[in-house]
Amino acid sequence: MGHCVVPEAEAILDREFPVLDKGFIRLVDYMGSDERVVQSARVSYGEGTKSYREDAGLIDYLLRNSHTSPFEQIVLTFHVKLPIFVARQWVRHRTARLNEISGRYSVMKDDFYVPAPDDVSLQSEDNKQGRSAEAMDAKAAEKVRNSFAEGQKAAYAAYTTFVDDGIARELARINLPLSLYTEMYWQIDLHNLFHFLRLRLDAHAQKEIRLYSELMFEITKKVAPRCCESFQRHILGGVHFSSEELTEIKRRLGGDEAKSSLTGKALERFEEKLKQGRQV
Ligand SMILES: Cc1cc2nc3c(=O)[nH]c(=O)nc-3n(C[C@H](O)[C@H](O)[C@H](O)COP(=O)(O)OP(=O)(O)OC[C@H]3O[C@@H](n4cnc5c(N)ncnc54)[C@H](O)[C@@H]3O)c2cc1C
Repeated sequence: MGHCVVPEAEAILDREFPVLDKGFIRLVDYMGSDERVVQSARVSYGEGTKSYREDAGLIDYLLRNSHTSPFEQIVLTFHVKLPIFVARQWVRHRTARLNEISGRYSVMKDDFYVPAPDDVSLQSEDNKQGRSAEAMDAKAAEKVRNSFAEGQKAAYAAYTTFVDDGIARELARINLPLSLYTEMYWQIDLHNLFHFLRLRLDAHAQKEIRLYSELMFEITKKVAPRCCESFQRHILGGVHFSSEELTEIKRRLGGDEAKSSLTGKALERFEEKLKQGRQV
């Protein structure tokens, strides 16, 4: 009992792990581990300590059956440096506590995100919210990158002039672009972190926030490896089926030759789900 100290988590505490061209994630602190989830679940069941194997089984049971509150007993605090457009998506997750650098108080640093050449893509034709998976012509991509960098340079030069001229920092900043890096301390419990990761590790999430999520998941595995394993198995690697889709699965398993009840887009979505199951 007492503090949970996890050697693997202690080893990475305070280390900056890079993301994108200038971003990072750093685990500032953690409270609890796999052990704490087990302890709190056993309190609610009125049972004592059991073997390691039984503990792992209990974590798996809890997650599989949506008994999520014991996962709230683990809390992680991250220091994240990220472009503002990523932060805009990030802060939609309300079940966290955060403190962000203040552009009213501090002079913002000359740190802007420029996507790597392979990440500059055309608009996707079938996904209104995404980019094409195909690589763009290298020369055209370079032109886009240079244009981003020039715009950032000009915006930052104007910002510096305003600040030097004594314009209020809260106004001087308003023309800075979404590619500017910001920093925040972000604290969340494991249950809500899993919710964040489920949404932001998904292929539909924007690549940049996905990269942060992938790294955050790796860091979280150091704190609570068993919980992460169960999350991987049941939530990330699992798929939710509608009642119509279940009927279709039963029909196929039963070798029923009758025509599928699913057609068109619904059938496409179903086939897509059968191929799913993310491995991180
Ligand atoms: C791929 C993708 C695309 C998106 N596109 C858009 C977009 O185009 N425009 C846009 O505006 N947003 C968009 N979002 C944001 C999305 O709508 C959610 O706001 C975001 O994912 C946070 O999810 P959440 O509310 O479940 O998380 P949290 O805020 O962390 O909440 C977790 C859970 O707590 C409960 N909860 C929290 N607050 C309340 C409340 N006030 N009342 C009731 N229950 C609550 C809910 O059950 C919720 O699921 C997108 C998200 C993703 C992943």
